[in-house]
Amino acid sequence: MNSANVIGVIGGSGVYDIDGLENRCWKRINSPFGEPSDELLFGDVGGRRLVFLPRHGRGHRLSPSSINYRANIDVLKRAGVTDLIAVSAVGSLREDFPPGTFVIVDQFIDRTVTREKSFFGSGCVAHVSMAKPTCSRLGDHLERAATMLSLSIVRGGTYVAMEGPQFSSLAESEMYRRMGCDVVGMTNMPEAKLAREAEICYASIAMVTDYDCWHPDHDYVTVEDIVRMVASNSVNARALVSSAISQVGADEHAASCPCRVALQNAFITKPEARDPEVMARLDAVAGRVLPVSREQSLDLRSFIRTIPDYPKPGIMFRDITTLLGHADGFRYAIDEFVKRFDSEKIDKVAAIESRGFLFGAPLAPRVSAGLVPIRKKGKLPFESISQEYMLEYGADSVEVHVDAISPGERVLLVDDLIATGGTAEAAVKLVERLGGSVIGAAFVIDLPELGGAARLRQRGIEVFSLCDFEGH
Ligand SMILES: [Zn+2]
Repeated sequence: MNSANVIGVIGGSGVYDIDGLENRCWKRINSPFGEPSDELLFGDVGGRRLVFLPRHGRGHRLSPSSINYRANIDVLKRAGVTDLIAVSAVGSLREDFPPGTFVIVDQFIDRTVTREKSFFGSGCVAHVSMAKPTCSRLGDHLERAATMLSLSIVRGGTYVAMEGPQFSSLAESEMYRRMGCDVVGMTNMPEAKLAREAEICYASIAMVTDYDCWHPDHDYVTVEDIVRMVASNSVNARALVSSAISQVGADEHAASCPCRVALQNAFITKPEARDPEVMARLDAVAGRVLPVSREQSLDLRSFIRTIPDYPKPGIMFRDITTLLGHADGFRYAIDEFVKRFDSEKIDKVAAIESRGFLFGAPLAPRVSAGLVPIRKKGKLPFESISQEYMLEYGADSVEVHVDAISPGERVLLVDDLIATGGTAEAAVKLVERLGGSVIGAAFVIDLPELGGAARLRQRGIEVFSLCDFEGH
């Protein structure tokens, strides 16, 4: 199960990026809950997938009250995040938590008042437990990583979330201290509540930038002091996250974490009384427990017509025109490709003539990539390279423009069907001759008995198909 752990990081004030990310790409993910703070930054650290979201948006555009926390958690869930590390700047309410201290928060008091705090509500009511609002397993990993880096770390603490954007009054600050709070911030609520509802493991690193106003030193702190502290905290936070990632990613106990089944007995609205519109928005957040919708359960094979003995006796021809002619089916096929590859950095979608064009064209802009046609011989007007492949009798070739793919570009190959894989393999060679690398191959139909998909996999290419048929 460990390869299924996908780490998400929400960066607060001072943390707008993550060091050492390879294959970086910013991608926009849409949410039925509105606009998230920003696009998501996808990348790899030491071979582990990481998804990063700057909580206030790049350039720090959003105040704590105007952040759409629901959309943020929803898009992270859609991106496959299972383990979420939230990084935030806080004020200290304790003498012994001086600026520079990192607190792995384990409790919250929510005093925010203007924010949407639940994915559920009228039409579908659910109550999750917040008795232990953070993931102790994730906390263990952070504590270990922080100790290895010799950071000043405190395990456990209560974070009081205030609405802001103004800082506390003296009376409020004193009250928080008497309530037993340790740090004060403006963003972890309702973030932690929503992560729990979405069954994402959540841990919070609260970085102390200054003492809150209760402290006699508070008045002597200059803006430069705070800026300096935020800068050094954010360097430490990025180092901490980077070093925790390999442990979190490899954690085999993650799958049995109670956070991941938070919705198991949470629903109280009877299935027949649930509002379909409300339910439709919960496809990502509550997808594990809710019955699949009609659209999700589409059997793509039922949209594909089989014509026996075409174009010659013994061949079962899989006709995709019936799929193309059906709006729901066609949309479903493209959506499934997007879902699988949207989190990858893709520069070009290479579509193989001619039915590959029909799927490559609508797909390319959805995964923020350009489209490259791989054409049959003699069709391209500009300087091209050609690659031969063997047919049952004789040979044929495919071609691509020499400037269609630049060295280092990441390419997704698309066609309607993979059979023996001759054309697909020739297309892979064309991409590689231009210096590109094929990071995946997507097909509507696989005919596994003909071995084409296996042939591509032997070249180390991930093959994704939407359905398969026996025989040929
Ligand atoms: Zn957990």
